Amino acid sequence: MSTAKYVYLFNEGRADMKNLLGGKGANLAEMTNIGLPVPPGFIITTEACIDFYNAGKQFPQGLEEQTLEKVKVLEETTGKKFGDPKTPLLVSVRSGAVISMPGMMDTVLNLGLNDETVEGLAACTGNRRFAYDCYRRFIQMFGDVVLGIDHHKFEAVLEDKKVDRGVRFDNQLTAEDWEEVIEKYKKIINKETGKPFPQDPIEQLFKAIFAVFNSWNTERAIVYRKVHKIPDDLGTAVNVVSMVFGNMGDDSGTGVAFTRNPSTGEKVLYGEYLTNAQGEDVVAGIRTPQPIAKLEQEMPAVYRQFTETCQLLEKHYRDMQDIEFTIERGKLWILQTRNGKRTAQAAIKIAVDMVGEGLITKEEAITRVEPGQLNQLLHRRIDPDSQLEVLAKGLPASPGSASGKVVFDADLAEKLGQEGEKVLLVRMETTPDDIHGIVAAQGVLTSRGGMTSHAAVVARGMGKPCVCGCDEIKIDYGTKQFKVGDLVIKEGDTISIDGSTGHVMLGEVPMIDPELSSEFRKLLEWADEIRDLGVRANADTPEDAAKAREFGAEGIGLTRTEHMFMAQDRLPIVQKMILATTLEERQEALSQLLPMQQDDFYGILKAMQGLPVCIRLLDPPLHEFLPNAEELAVEITKLKLTNGDAEEIKAKEKLLRQVRSLTEFNPMLGHRGCRLGITYPEIYAMQARAIFQATAQLVWEGYEVIPEVEIPLVIEVKELSFLKELVTKIAEEVKEETGVQFRYTVGTMIEMPRAALLAGEIAEQAEFFSFGTNDLTQTTLGFSRDDAEGKFMHHYTERKILKENPFVVLDRKGVGKLMKMAVEEGRKTRPDLLIGICGEHGGEPSSVEFCHIIGLNYVSCSPYRVPIARLAAAQAKIINKDQSK
Ligand code: PEP
Ligand code: MG
Repeated sequence: MSTAKYVYLFNEGRADMKNLLGGKGANLAEMTNIGLPVPPGFIITTEACIDFYNAGKQFPQGLEEQTLEKVKVLEETTGKKFGDPKTPLLVSVRSGAVISMPGMMDTVLNLGLNDETVEGLAACTGNRRFAYDCYRRFIQMFGDVVLGIDHHKFEAVLEDKKVDRGVRFDNQLTAEDWEEVIEKYKKIINKETGKPFPQDPIEQLFKAIFAVFNSWNTERAIVYRKVHKIPDDLGTAVNVVSMVFGNMGDDSGTGVAFTRNPSTGEKVLYGEYLTNAQGEDVVAGIRTPQPIAKLEQEMPAVYRQFTETCQLLEKHYRDMQDIEFTIERGKLWILQTRNGKRTAQAAIKIAVDMVGEGLITKEEAITRVEPGQLNQLLHRRIDPDSQLEVLAKGLPASPGSASGKVVFDADLAEKLGQEGEKVLLVRMETTPDDIHGIVAAQGVLTSRGGMTSHAAVVARGMGKPCVCGCDEIKIDYGTKQFKVGDLVIKEGDTISIDGSTGHVMLGEVPMIDPELSSEFRKLLEWADEIRDLGVRANADTPEDAAKAREFGAEGIGLTRTEHMFMAQDRLPIVQKMILATTLEERQEALSQLLPMQQDDFYGILKAMQGLPVCIRLLDPPLHEFLPNAEELAVEITKLKLTNGDAEEIKAKEKLLRQVRSLTEFNPMLGHRGCRLGITYPEIYAMQARAIFQATAQLVWEGYEVIPEVEIPLVIEVKELSFLKELVTKIAEEVKEETGVQFRYTVGTMIEMPRAALLAGEIAEQAEFFSFGTNDLTQTTLGFSRDDAEGKFMHHYTERKILKENPFVVLDRKGVGKLMKMAVEEGRKTRPDLLIGICGEHGGEPSSVEFCHIIGLNYVSCSPYRVPIARLAAAQAKIINKDQSK
């Protein structure tokens, strides 16, 4: 049996081999092949990692031999040799997953150093201090990453040494100091592992490869994958790259740069570097680096070459790149390029600009922006007119604003976050171990680190506000507080951050509604040109309707009339209506409600003039409008104990009896929806009258209005025919009374499985369908929508019994099957049947795609999600182009 090819030299790979070589590896290969200065190296495939796990965490057969062969090639290409004291070959070993997982995996630099080769490095660089610094870094990283020894143990030695020597920075230590540090490091390793530090470079290499494979399944990697919905079975590749050194003096350095600003999208080189530094120093956030523009003054030739390389890479990949580079004694080396992570604002600007620059098409631009990410821009931000008392200023690392209680520890942030508290994670710097705290927090504030520090990169990826490098705040983890000057802020105090300005403020600050940038509008216009699906909004007030229209809604897909009944001035009348014992009493209450409802509909229909407005007649069980039985019982007891008014007690007791008689065991399956209309036709009659009187008035005033009257919870065509007759009768009456002619349609929600099954029959009466996928999910899965998410859903998703929460992402397999059938059956009866969706899924990108696939006419979602739905609908069309009719 021949073994798989597990190891590829850079010149054997290509960018499109990402699945096999990982993102980093495929790009290193691609860059090598287009002639960029990439240090020679090789890649161990993701397949090797998968086979490693399949073999019970053992190297698969052939991997070691193939690795040794490639080491030989590397030795020939570089003219250096592993373990050779004269010209030692040194390499870095890093992970490289298919989808980039920043900060998730660890890097080992300077592998190949041992007690002999360190002397060789000292001799060939003429710099003992440098060589021993490299060696101690290697032992430290190897100890931490590969051998799993707590890095604090090494750092403590280093700190002691600095104190001992009376210096502040690492680079003030001498070669002799490092030698002593190294001896102590070796002792730590011996003590912790029971074995000496491995001196054989090949043994070091295999141990490091083993560690990278293992790190695919660390706790933090698993959490990151879960948050970003990355499959667990992709495996990681391993990149072995010959070392170049950014710490060989002031003509050396290392940095990271984005070809465009990843926060705003502006077309300027954006990044930072550190002179005389190695590897992870820039991203680790320990020394605050210099902006990239400074490189132009310090090393103009290198800067020029670097900017040219950036342009070339952007053109080649046709996307914004995130590039890691090292300068070794004035020579530029490119260590990595990948499509840069960016905020939603930047994603939009870059996509739209690149269309203008002729780099990508409009369709590509649309698929470049992840609809879910748009949430960031549709969120509220700090009111620019508010008087802010700025406490401190840091770097604006990820836009958006957040307020929350200060928390210094990721575990506590997670705990409080789960309890529903709004928290801000405040740390000197974050590491991948803090990821669960960042997930739970509203935003992140750090006192150290630059725009590419861990906190910044992760927060931007998650769309959370972040201010970093705010060195005015002096954090003391011990006393759980930070100070700004004399001001002390304790854990639990509320602060606000603005990730667009870097401002930190005390307390909560006023926020305002979002506006769409011109690029955002342009992208959405392109989306509108492409998409087939219409996009409507769910709105219950004229204000929401106006907002929806501003965001591009093409109508209202659902007006829930019950929300209008809840208003303070209406509830007593609604209660009177519910508790009426005679028809006359009920009519009396309804006639009081009529003008109020008419006003509601007038406002909404007017705000949406020229566009359809789907108004649903009353849906929830009536007891939702009544006082809570337990609270009433307590009130009565209190009144009795305090010798309260006898009349009042009597009235309350009567009310309690009525409330109890209306209480149901399963109210969601109870007396609600059209069942109310069947038992109390006068309620629906009043609502229909309010709709039509408002319509008539607006038509008379010269507006074009298109009301759609929607009957909820239908399971049987006869329910609909009964109620449609009622509605039609009222419409005719209103036309007659007002002398105004108007158009309207009557249709139904499809939100019960029986309705979906009998959609063909129901369509005989219904002029439109709207999928109420909240109820349809509840009843198809038999999961109570009010309880499932709080009680057991996470067990289902964690155990992967269900891939996603079906109340968030439409369950295509079950609920989707019913929908597809209902669409087909409905249209068989009525080919021009208008079909939409108004459940929460209407604004969720994957569900929107499904609605496109099964041929709905529109999706409807909350006003703030309308732009998301517009983009998702266009993407659905582009992605499913081949399948379209
Ligand atoms: C639904 O069931 O999907 C729906 C939109 O109605 P509601 O959420 O009001 O029950
Ligand atoms: Mg419903």
